[in-house]
Amino acid sequence: MAIRLITIALALVSLSNGYALKSDAEKNKEIRNLKAKVARLTPVEISAPISSLSDKDKQAIKKIIAAAKLMNPIYSRQVWSGNEWLRAQLAKDSSEQGLLKLKLFDQNRGPWDRMESNKAFLNDVPKEKVPGGGYYPEDMTKAEFESWLKGLSEPDKVKAQGFFSVIHRDQEKKLYSVNYSQEYKEFLKPAAELLKEAAELTDNSSLKRFLNLRAEAFLTDNYYESDVAWMDLDAPVEVTIGPYETYEDELYGYKAAFEAFVTLTNVQESQKLNKFSSYLQELENNLPIEEKFRNKKIGSMAPIRVVDEVYTSGEARRGVATAAFNLPNDEKVIKEKGSKRVMLKNVQQAKFDKVLSEISKKVLSPKDQKEVQFEPFFTHILMHELMHGIGPHNIKLGERETNVRMELKDQYSSIEEAKADITGLFALQYLMDKGVIDKSMQRTMYTTFLASSFRSVRFGITEAHGRGVAMQFNFLMDEGAITQNGQGKFSVNMARIQPAVKKLTHELLTLQAEGAYEKAKAMLTKYGVVRPAMQEALNSLKDVPVDIDPIFSLE
Ligand code: ZN
Repeated sequence: MAIRLITIALALVSLSNGYALKSDAEKNKEIRNLKAKVARLTPVEISAPISSLSDKDKQAIKKIIAAAKLMNPIYSRQVWSGNEWLRAQLAKDSSEQGLLKLKLFDQNRGPWDRMESNKAFLNDVPKEKVPGGGYYPEDMTKAEFESWLKGLSEPDKVKAQGFFSVIHRDQEKKLYSVNYSQEYKEFLKPAAELLKEAAELTDNSSLKRFLNLRAEAFLTDNYYESDVAWMDLDAPVEVTIGPYETYEDELYGYKAAFEAFVTLTNVQESQKLNKFSSYLQELENNLPIEEKFRNKKIGSMAPIRVVDEVYTSGEARRGVATAAFNLPNDEKVIKEKGSKRVMLKNVQQAKFDKVLSEISKKVLSPKDQKEVQFEPFFTHILMHELMHGIGPHNIKLGERETNVRMELKDQYSSIEEAKADITGLFALQYLMDKGVIDKSMQRTMYTTFLASSFRSVRFGITEAHGRGVAMQFNFLMDEGAITQNGQGKFSVNMARIQPAVKKLTHELLTLQAEGAYEKAKAMLTKYGVVRPAMQEALNSLKDVPVDIDPIFSLE
């Protein structure tokens, strides 16, 4: 059998020799191209002091990691209904290109390049990422969804627009919704069991409570209690697991994607950073917006946790690694409990070392490069997270009570991320002027922010963060707060940066308070683009990795 195959193969080669040579050259080009794409994420070992845990917590964390692994197949389906089949096909190809394609697919959690405006990198898949992901039928239009909503009872409408349901089509082509607990039962049931086993093991009561309630939520779609328990978590092992962010639903931003962060609390850093959150109400009271838009009493002081990452999965494990997050997203929990910020310190340090310092060498003048430092980088990400908690959330339009997310729809994520960035700079300046933060950080924080804009925009501007950063960058350039010298290197104009930051903070917070969808859209259309000057700088970053590809020892 083997001999016959070889004979046929030789015959084919001899018949198409010239063609074979040409295709070899093409093959090599394809391999080079794939290798370059894969190399954008540079592998880094991410570790945390597991040995400091009690024996029981060491056992519990293994169960939690096992549950976290089950978020991967769910997320894969949420990105696109064709993902599972496609990955299975790719896994059959053991050629060099085959392995590289599989690696690239895994880095992106699908066939679209998250670092290249979601363009397909494989043939025979939709050329652009499917905007509704696996949450809606692929052929469903927004008009169809909206007219279907009008015919639904109020509870069904809430469910259809809710975080925890997917929309399908029945045999008569009519739309209907299914809750996550049903849709992803095969993964959520075993994940719930593993979380309950971990809850049995740990001796920390707040972790025990969260794990048990989250296990229940996986089976009932009622996440409220467990979100509240997550807010109260105070344990050496800090776990975030479930459906959270809505970025993947580019149609409406309604549906939450599954992910997990298994981490260890960094107690010292958490305490240090809690100091800043004691200024939240004061910052809200001094936001550069009309008095009537300010929240007289923001929720009680929300906890901040600085953690070191042990394992991540689902949405937390795709494309660019998350450096910090603010959860939950449920406005009801935010209103009652506030939200919690989790900062992944070991991840941030790795990003700074491997990427940001390299970028600054290419895009900033030598003098400015020295001002790019880890401390202001870390502090600004902290402020970014804090700022998600202040500014307009629940708003009133005429007599109608609503919230910013519902009103800004598909524009919401980019606007909210940009708001958090720019208001973060505003707030740091405010605290510096008050003497809470050392004035020595003034230059370094703006210059570090400038360097980090290039890092963010490289991720592509179809993604909420990237688009929001491009908007800020262009706005600040138009204000003369960012300048470019004859060699094309960028720097901050220290005389202009403060008023420009204040102006943009005012504009974004005001359009949020007004729930002004059209204004948000116009803003992002005008500024949320890559202009030639930035494009040229981005072109010079070809050899700098885009981000890190974490390797976990407890995988
Ligand atoms: Zn954010």
